[in-house]
Amino acid sequence: MGKEAGVCWGADVSDAKKNYKRGLDCLQSGHGRVAEYPQVYMVLDDYSARVIREFYTHIGGSPTRLQASTRYIDYENGFDYVTPVSILAKSGASTIYENTMQEITHSLQALEELGIPREDCAMLLPLGMATRIVVRTNLRNLIDMSHQRMCSRAYWEFQNLMDDICTALSEYSDEWAYVIEHYFKPKCELYGYCIEKQSCGRRAKKDIQ
Ligand SMILES: Cc1cc2nc3c(=O)[nH]c(=O)nc-3n(C[C@H](O)[C@H](O)[C@H](O)COP(=O)(O)OP(=O)(O)OC[C@H]3O[C@@H](n4cnc5c(N)ncnc54)[C@H](O)[C@@H]3O)c2cc1C
Repeated sequence: MGKEAGVCWGADVSDAKKNYKRGLDCLQSGHGRVAEYPQVYMVLDDYSARVIREFYTHIGGSPTRLQASTRYIDYENGFDYVTPVSILAKSGASTIYENTMQEITHSLQALEELGIPREDCAMLLPLGMATRIVVRTNLRNLIDMSHQRMCSRAYWEFQNLMDDICTALSEYSDEWAYVIEHYFKPKCELYGYCIEKQSCGRRAKKDIQ
């Protein structure tokens, strides 16, 4: 970021330390465009199709995505799916959940045996099915995403997904670890107050007259 900005400021961009400091200054000053230079390539695997559908709503920076095919995947041995903790924790609930998933698998197989094309059988696949996508996005998009999705009111799987992204990027480099620590936060931490109608109470709601 600092190198790109430095080019436009006529700065000495051969000094890596100065570049780094300049990049941080840009972030601190809210010069959002510079945060579009760091490109992030990710494989998101084993998350539900449901959370990936929510992930797709974040279109800032025109991210590029490829997703696992539901036309060609062979469901002969069933499909992986995400099980919510609430279902795991409730006696009897996981049996209902697992039986439903198995029933769907049996129906997929039965339809295929009847000669129905796999792309049509796949209509039965649930939002809870695990999927995989390959994403290219940028720092700005991810910071913005964190404000919505690290909110305690966001869907729990997306909160977990944000945690996973933060962990993976923090492990990638110290520079990323710094950015995650200082810029990835729920919107209430950004504003200093909560703007959600139903607040979790983490931050007080702003008194709007
Ligand atoms: C508690 C909670 C509940 C939610 N419930 C739902 C729900 O029920 N259904 C649902 O669909 N979503 C829901 N969301 C997601 C949310 O409303 C957004 O749709 C999602 O976060 C992605 O959109 P975005 O604008 O935040 O991000 P992006 O699309 O990545 O946009 C990022 C920023 O870029 C700018 N921008 C983007 N597009 C434009 C544009 N066309 N013109 C000008 N500026 C633009 C804006 O400044 C925007 O903030 C929920 C979020 C939370 C936290």
